[in-house]
Amino acid sequence: MDGWKLEHTYAALPKIFYRCQTPTAAPAPEMVVFNQGLAQILGLNVDQLKNAPEIFAGTELPSGAKPIAQAYAGFQFGHFAMLGDGRAVLLGEQITPDGRRFDVQLKGSGKTPYSRQGDGQAALSPMLREYIISEAMFALGIPTTRSLAVVLTGKNVIRETVLQGAVLTRVASSHIRVGTFHYIAVFGTEDGLRKLADYSIRRHFPWLEHPDYQDQNKYLLFFREVVRLQADLIAKWQLVGFVHGVMNTDNMAISGETIDYGPCAFLDAYDPNTVFSSIDTAGRYAYKNQPMAGFWNLSRFAESLLPLLHESRENAINLAQREIETYWTCYNNAWLAGMRSKLGIVHEEPEDMDLIEELLDLMERHQLDYTNTFRALSAPDPNVSPLFEVSEGHLWQKKWQAKLNRQPQGINGGVERMKQHNPAVIPRNHRVEEALIAAELGDFSVMDNLLHALSKPYEASEGYTATPEPTVCNYKTFCGT
Ligand code: AMP
Ligand code: MG
Repeated sequence: MDGWKLEHTYAALPKIFYRCQTPTAAPAPEMVVFNQGLAQILGLNVDQLKNAPEIFAGTELPSGAKPIAQAYAGFQFGHFAMLGDGRAVLLGEQITPDGRRFDVQLKGSGKTPYSRQGDGQAALSPMLREYIISEAMFALGIPTTRSLAVVLTGKNVIRETVLQGAVLTRVASSHIRVGTFHYIAVFGTEDGLRKLADYSIRRHFPWLEHPDYQDQNKYLLFFREVVRLQADLIAKWQLVGFVHGVMNTDNMAISGETIDYGPCAFLDAYDPNTVFSSIDTAGRYAYKNQPMAGFWNLSRFAESLLPLLHESRENAINLAQREIETYWTCYNNAWLAGMRSKLGIVHEEPEDMDLIEELLDLMERHQLDYTNTFRALSAPDPNVSPLFEVSEGHLWQKKWQAKLNRQPQGINGGVERMKQHNPAVIPRNHRVEEALIAAELGDFSVMDNLLHALSKPYEASEGYTATPEPTVCNYKTFCGT
């Protein structure tokens, strides 16, 4: 038994939501990386499947698969577009031994009816990038889709140069996007919209169907849940220094998982204006703009939901407007709680905010490394921090220590908490690049070592905490490859 237990509840939605699509067979599938831990969680037979690249290349279908490409739209850099899975197919929903449901999707497995001008393919490097960063995010405790495997297809893909083709197997709580709602709201009927919302509620927020909620506006509560999950998620990104890079509404999952790792990267030196993506010339999705981009996307989500919120459009708009304001409360609370934890603050005081802002300001002015500055505060000798190489840093340190001494738990009470909230190891850009360059040349050991270090981010792995040389700063990422 290979362990596949695939169901197809999404395919029971009206046909407008998807098209049946067999993946394109790859000529010479070859396994590059297989996630044994995730395979076990999914209830898959590791020994059989780690040697079955043809399954993860789409050349052979796992038992019970009924592949489909999903339809969706999205606001891309503010502009509405019809999109859909242009290079991905959903094999089905795997039911785990503990009864959970996960989408299993092949990305890079050939053209679909939604491919537009694209070739339906993916190159090795970006697929490995998604594997590395999504697994790092998982280890950091940030909600995310995960990666089960990357295989080479044996086929070249043509980009600016000729590259090796690859397929990534992505595992997600679902692939329902904010853009899936735009799609049905614009191209479908109100009945279709209601069916998608009901399906999403059953899949992600089943408690809203409980009789306790029957007198309440179910779709408004659904919106509230998505707002809360996104506010929490984006606060987590900010706290860890993650820049998604392409926060279009088609790349926002209603499950609250980080999805579609394209030109994403982590901050080294703290600069709120950081943009990694080469196509984001206006800085729309810069680090500091992510919370606002989340709010903008959720406003577009609310617009798509209006017909469900109230029969009068005016009332629906009022309800949505009142509800979306909760985003900022959720976001600010999550961010402040996270920052307190990063600084070892157990006992809350109003002036905590000043302490946090002063630190961030110092880090920005002196271009201090975001991750290492926080991590060093909980080191046995916090004086090794890059922060204390600047004189203002000492003044801040005194204030911070006085604050911790004032709390009943003292300084020591905060240190353990800090170690759990300040990672030592993040997927630093120069390390990811080095792993990808080696992988392109057929050496996967650099990536394997990196993945191992990233799987324990709160333990300092020798060599993985160093900041990049100045020559590799101004890192740029490229998407659409
Ligand atoms: P992304 O930038 O990865 O979020 O993709 C935006 C849209 O472009 C989605 O609809 C993708 O399915 C589609 N897309 C990206 N790359 C390709 C490709 N090589 N072939 C076909 N469609 C693609
Ligand atoms: Mg996308």
